[in-house]
Amino acid sequence: MTLLRANLGAFISPWGICKPEVALETLLRRLKMSKLKPQQKLFVLRTHLLPKLTHTLVMHPMLVGLLDRLDRAVRKFLCGKSGILHLPASTPKAFYYAPVKDGGLGLMEFRTTIPALIVRRFDKMNDSPCLAVRAASGNTANMNRIRLAQKFIRRDELGNPVVDCVQIRSYHSEKLHRSFDGKPLMRASEVPSVHSWVADGKLMMTGQAFCESLNIRINALPTLARFLRGQTGRKECRAGCNAVESLQHVLQVCPRTHGPRIMRHDKVANCIVNNLKQRGYQVLEQPRIRTSEGLRKPDIIAIKNAEATVVDVLIGGSDDPNTAHRSKVTYYQGNQDITVFLRQEYEVERVHFGATVITPQGLLARKSAKTLEQLGLSKSVWKTLVVRALEHTTYIWHVFNKSTAMSWRRRRNKYSQ
Ligand SMILES: [Zn+2]
Repeated sequence: MTLLRANLGAFISPWGICKPEVALETLLRRLKMSKLKPQQKLFVLRTHLLPKLTHTLVMHPMLVGLLDRLDRAVRKFLCGKSGILHLPASTPKAFYYAPVKDGGLGLMEFRTTIPALIVRRFDKMNDSPCLAVRAASGNTANMNRIRLAQKFIRRDELGNPVVDCVQIRSYHSEKLHRSFDGKPLMRASEVPSVHSWVADGKLMMTGQAFCESLNIRINALPTLARFLRGQTGRKECRAGCNAVESLQHVLQVCPRTHGPRIMRHDKVANCIVNNLKQRGYQVLEQPRIRTSEGLRKPDIIAIKNAEATVVDVLIGGSDDPNTAHRSKVTYYQGNQDITVFLRQEYEVERVHFGATVITPQGLLARKSAKTLEQLGLSKSVWKTLVVRALEHTTYIWHVFNKSTAMSWRRRRNKYSQ
């Protein structure tokens, strides 16, 4: 069925005017049946399909129930077993609507956007220099539309109406960062460029890895802590580590995933090394430096033009990646023997200390971005590092689920009984 958008605020099909719900349903069904990858479908939804409905809904009679139904249809298209992203139904709504740079998917919520657009557009008619436009703005239907839009406009925490684009964005971001699952994304906007993989529709990873990366981002993978939230039941890790089986535990702490965690760290470090070599650096990988405080093995030392930069890589630091960055830098900077070693062995004049900290949710620490920038690595390289880290994080999740390895303590208790 071919749908045409008319200027009067209605969808016209070959069989006549069709309701916005039917129009949206048809467009979503077509998109779902297409042979595109999930990231491409999300791109089409965000940049073409939802904006296509905006004008119609602004011109349509203001119906809050209709807007809610349309938003629900879009979320249903994304989540659940048959949804394109396989997100659980309990995903915080703000995750769908928060801007990409703040950790969300950057979709438009009709319930928030349409009343705001009506207020902005039709209020302007009252101030028009054209007499006919001013006369039209005063008719009953128009006054009624503006009154309803003002009544149902969203309000922020302080009770202020959410009218312009900036207010709509911060309204959704604040909601996301206040939610339990969205809290680790609070610092996402410090390095916004690394999140473009969510929305650009490029095939940087497989469709499955893309969906699982989004699930990791919003803490939606079915760990026992997530699955039994608000219920009583055994939440202890299935690998027997005497800890709650949260996503943080599985991805960062559990002994069952120790091997793939090392592999993830090495893959990201190798990616940095390859890029540094392409830019003409002499690179030392995990050099063993004997110091008065013991053996030190920084991941990377990059040398060029008599200057050396010590870089350590960490995939972690969910609470505050900048704190993790500082502790990494302090660990090596406080040891003078490393500077002496580099001056004697490689005749460098200046030594810099930095780190690359990427959280399991795919956030790059602000200070780490500065380190990479000083080394001459571009923003596209930062994004590649984040995508590689996320890809391997999804692999860690698979290893955890498929493995039957138990922690040594659990095994010892089992056999001593
Ligand atoms: Zn465990």
